[in-house]
Amino acid sequence: MARLEDLPLRDDLKGQQPYGAPQLEVPVSLNVNENTHRVPLEVAEDIIERLAKALMSINRYPDREFMPLREALAAYLGADLTPENIWAANGSNEVLQHIFQAFGGPGRKFLSFTPTYSMYPIIASGTQTEYVAVARADRFELTPEIIRDAILEHKPNIVILCAPNNPTGTPLGLDCIEAAYEAISEASGGILVVDEAYQEFGADPSVTAVSLLPGRERLLVSRTMSKAFAFAGARVGYLAADPAVIDALRLVRLPYHLSAFTQAAAEGALAHAPLMLSTVDDIRAQRDRIVTELKLMGLDPYRSDANFVLFGGLDEPEQVWQQLLDRGVLIRNVGLGGTLRVSAGTEAETSAFLDALREVLGK
Ligand SMILES: *Cc1c(COP(=O)(O)O)cnc(C)c1O
Repeated sequence: MARLEDLPLRDDLKGQQPYGAPQLEVPVSLNVNENTHRVPLEVAEDIIERLAKALMSINRYPDREFMPLREALAAYLGADLTPENIWAANGSNEVLQHIFQAFGGPGRKFLSFTPTYSMYPIIASGTQTEYVAVARADRFELTPEIIRDAILEHKPNIVILCAPNNPTGTPLGLDCIEAAYEAISEASGGILVVDEAYQEFGADPSVTAVSLLPGRERLLVSRTMSKAFAFAGARVGYLAADPAVIDALRLVRLPYHLSAFTQAAAEGALAHAPLMLSTVDDIRAQRDRIVTELKLMGLDPYRSDANFVLFGGLDEPEQVWQQLLDRGVLIRNVGLGGTLRVSAGTEAETSAFLDALREVLGK
């Protein structure tokens, strides 16, 4: 067997590690912001029927334009969107990769406000797009002024705003998105992506960048079924934008990138959207409970519109992380000094986390 160093690997991949949080078998897994609730049985049965039907013609390639799925996603988002406004791929990570393949590349620049989702620079580097990281303000907040100044200074071809932001949970106002679009239009005529992976968990779920799409043909709003929809294993992410943007993404996708099984499963889930989303209220309540309880322990949770909470006030986060794991509770160290991040689980999982943390901290 050869060693990695023996292979004629691309220079920019030498010495790199594959991205990913540890996947450990533990009783309480709250480290990657999944929805820890199972798909309701009624929906599971419908999806199984649809998968069986897809299997009967699996000798044929799937619908390359996945029109029924795009129709279902347009109907779910509402706002007068049509299937021509919708794109989808194997997770929103792949949607983002399509965006970089179409609009980034050598000689082009991508800007985001850090700390933010750590996959952005990896996807940028895979397409040899230069990465500009601009620091967030106190407590990881952003203002229209910070956004505007950064975009006018660096003139990026792509900007991603993560709303709410991962790994900090920070909500983002529509005024920030409007300011970003105005600035990038002035600076470069580039693409503004709003990553709304956690949108359904927001304090007011009617607040979305989807409402800003009319008249903004270079605004792209990315969503995923991995979080609120409890569908992470199915790998379905999607995007709403002007039909011309969708035409651009069709130039870079691999033919038949969404399997017949993926399409069938996602259509089944969307046919039961209200039921699939019925756990969101409870998850929001658990998130708010985590914030309250952490404060009572003398810790410092950041404000969150997502299904997770970043909290500071820890002297030795690595040790606390390990001691929680020893008690069967897996959370995430995202590498921000003195902090850890925990996903809101079921009521029982959240209690297990809070009890274990109290024990570890002696509170
Ligand atoms: C989880 C997450 C995604 C979604 O990834 P999928 O590929 O759809 O599973 C996208 N953006 C952010 C910020 C996320 O945290």
